[in-house]
Amino acid sequence: MPIRAVVWGENVHEQTNATVAGLYPGGMHKAIADALNLDSGLSATTATLQEPEHGLPEARLAETDVLLWWGHAAHGDVSDEVVDRVAAQVWAGMGLIVLHSGHFSKIFKRLMGTPCGLTWREAGERERIWVTAPNHPIAAGLPAYFELENEEMYGEPFRVPEPLETVFIGWFQGGEVFRSGLTYRRGAGNVFYFQPGHETYPTYHDATVQQVLRNAVHWAHNPAARIGNVTDAPNRPVEDALEPIEARGPKLHAKGEAGFR
Ligand code: ZN
Repeated sequence: MPIRAVVWGENVHEQTNATVAGLYPGGMHKAIADALNLDSGLSATTATLQEPEHGLPEARLAETDVLLWWGHAAHGDVSDEVVDRVAAQVWAGMGLIVLHSGHFSKIFKRLMGTPCGLTWREAGERERIWVTAPNHPIAAGLPAYFELENEEMYGEPFRVPEPLETVFIGWFQGGEVFRSGLTYRRGAGNVFYFQPGHETYPTYHDATVQQVLRNAVHWAHNPAARIGNVTDAPNRPVEDALEPIEARGPKLHAKGEAGFR
């Protein structure tokens, strides 16, 4: 069975900016899903902010192996309930790929636990993206570096935790550098952040970027069964201890109590 990917798109600038609409007539989410579907081992569909539950009801997430997330102007419009739901699925084993301005999305900030800020400049600069982990599955088939003629500059310091692996470092024409491809594990879920993808440039039509995205979906997929009830914290009764024990000492909690959250 192919890996099931859902590409989540905020779908705001496609509706309000003529340049973005021209580059991505079906929306950036569709362009990304089309690129993923070039690989017969992947099956990609889309979801958008405007759909009920942002297109991410619990049942759909349960059948999603890897979620890709592109957002920019409307991070605050994403409901906290959906963010909680996505976070729980990642902890339970769903893969998550956060793209470009998704660095400030609620879900990425939640999973990183840091501000996720960076420096930036919208000047159509050339970006040269160096592969810093040539044997990493996300870099499979890539040259030593590749270039995007126009990208938004994202610069260090990138306020994220130290990653598991740095797969790419981007250099921008104006002189800044940025850790452009970073991997994390959160619970049982594999997380990849990939910097290119400013909406006024044709980044997601670039063949190498598309290859990175396909590689990343394969890498982020955790084939193990999703962990059930991953956010539970059950109280184990004394009488259920594997070795017989007697309760002693002062007590705060009543017998059978669920405990504080
Ligand atoms: Zn941007």
